[in-house]
Amino acid sequence: MLNRFTPMIKIQKLIHDYIKRDDEGNVAGTVRAIGGVDLHVEPGRFIAILGHNGSGKSTLAKHLNALLFPTEGTVWVDGMSTSDGKNLWEIRREAGMVFQNPDNQIIAQVVEEDVGFGPENIGVPTEEIWTRVEESLKAVGMLEHRKKSPNRLSGGQKQRVSIAGVIAMEPKCIILDEPTAMLDPNGRKEVIKAAKKLNREKGITVILITHYMEEAVDADMIFVMDKGVVAMQGTPREIFCQVERMKELQLDVPQVTLLGHELRKAGLAIPDCILTKEELADALLGAPEAAGEKEEADGDQS
Ligand code: ADP
Ligand code: MG
Repeated sequence: MLNRFTPMIKIQKLIHDYIKRDDEGNVAGTVRAIGGVDLHVEPGRFIAILGHNGSGKSTLAKHLNALLFPTEGTVWVDGMSTSDGKNLWEIRREAGMVFQNPDNQIIAQVVEEDVGFGPENIGVPTEEIWTRVEESLKAVGMLEHRKKSPNRLSGGQKQRVSIAGVIAMEPKCIILDEPTAMLDPNGRKEVIKAAKKLNREKGITVILITHYMEEAVDADMIFVMDKGVVAMQGTPREIFCQVERMKELQLDVPQVTLLGHELRKAGLAIPDCILTKEELADALLGAPEAAGEKEEADGDQS
């Protein structure tokens, strides 16, 4: 269904109310988790969604995979409205989800069986399942662990197996809801690297929900949620430039950005909005000369 004019995700005036029930199961009221979100994601993009706890990120994510349905408004995934029941399974195949806890997502006793589970469920022929399993594990750098028990893997490896399970469904989009929250720094790096690679090499749209600001630095676009609405949107540089605004939203900026910001406030003549260590080093050394030397060293100019 996808063509280059169809947005991967389009959300118009989305409202989501959770129904609260009392102990007897009677409706006791509603909680508005999403209060009017408009959002547009083109195919092939790497998107990060930030926001403090309770800002509505997971609720939004579940709408992208038709696990929740709009109270009001419309969500289209690859042109298909999630409110239309006949689209349900195609949406869930096209937009795969990876959740926070790696232990809740792996079912099988052997890695490769786990990855093959999804395709098997939708009736993919056996031979093709194995091709897909192999390719998916390769894509996340886990092929050599295919015969292992998931119990013997690290958190980062388990999350990569979960991602492989999603890839095996040949999705157009993957939504990762804080996939690194329970991982150590190494595991976090592995998972983010795998997600970036899938985006770059397979053109899969990635929607990464995270509270690690560093993971959002390379995104094409960032959306910042607050109280169920999109409070900020822009490129990483546009977002992280606004150190004070991010603080108001109870969010950090990458450490190196903060350091640059503080140095600038203290009177150092460096550009605002540094995003990487390399940029900070160049700024501190005097950016123009540093850039010139680099070009010569690369042999681009003679
Ligand atoms: P985030 O992922 O940004 O932490 P959530 O989408 O989980 O935010 O939650 C948004 C709001 O919806 C919060 O106020 C939360 O308490 C509420 N909420 C989330 N899930 C439910 C639920 N199943 N029932 C009732 N309220 C919920
Ligand atoms: Mg959440």
